[in-house]
Amino acid sequence: MRLLIFGPQASGKGTQAARVAEHFRILHISTGDIFRENISQETELGKLAASYMNDGNLVPNEVTNNLVKNRLEEEDCAKGFILDGYPRTRNQAEFLTELNHKFDAAINLQVSESEIIKRIGARRICENCKTGFNTIFIKPKVEGVCDKCNGKLIIREDDKPEAIKKRLSLYHELTEPLLDFYREKGLIVDINGDPIMDEVYAEIIQKLSA
Ligand code: AMP
Repeated sequence: MRLLIFGPQASGKGTQAARVAEHFRILHISTGDIFRENISQETELGKLAASYMNDGNLVPNEVTNNLVKNRLEEEDCAKGFILDGYPRTRNQAEFLTELNHKFDAAINLQVSESEIIKRIGARRICENCKTGFNTIFIKPKVEGVCDKCNGKLIIREDDKPEAIKKRLSLYHELTEPLLDFYREKGLIVDINGDPIMDEVYAEIIQKLSA
C-alpha cells in the first residue's frame, strides 16, 4: 500500500500518518521528521534545512526531492509507505509522479482555521527527546515536563506565531492546489479532521478499507 497524506499545520497529519502506518504495517516517511532528525544530529543537511524551517519557509525543492528519491529507493520501502509532508509544491508532485510509484490513496485532512489556531497554541515538544505534547489533547503528567525523559517542554521554533502565519499561507498557496492534481487522478479521500484524534483515525481506516 502506498499513501499520501495532506493537511495544514496542526491538522494531526503526523499523528494520523503514524497510526495509519502501524495499522497497515507500512513505513511512515515524514520529510519534516527527517529534517528535524538531521537538525538534532547537526548534519550538513540539518544546517541547511534549519535555515529555512526556523522561519517557516520550505526547504528548496531540489534538496527535498533528492532526499525523498533516495529514501524511497531503500529496500524497506518495498512493503509500502505513507508519505507525510511530501509533496508540498507542484514541482515536488511532478517529481514524485516521475518516480513512478503507484499510489492507492491521498488522505486529505480538512480542519477549520479556528481549530488550527487553537491547536497550534497548545503544541509543545521535548527539548531533549523531541516527543510531541499538546496542552489540550496529550497533556504531560507534570506541566512543562516531558513524561519520557523529564526534559523541558518548549514551543517548536517553527510553531512561533510569525513562522506559523508563513507556514499556513504557504500551505494555502502552494500545497492546497495539489489536492486538485490528485483529485483528478481519483486518489483523494476527504476526512473531517476537526473531531478528536480517535474519531478521525476511525474515519480514515474505514474509508481506506472500504
Ligand atoms: P512538517 O513537520 O511536515 O510540518 O514540516 C516541518 C518543516 O519542514 C516545514 O515547515 C518545511 O520547512 C520543512 N519541510 C517538510 N517537508 C517539506 C517539503 N516537502 N518541502 C519543503 N520543505 C519541507
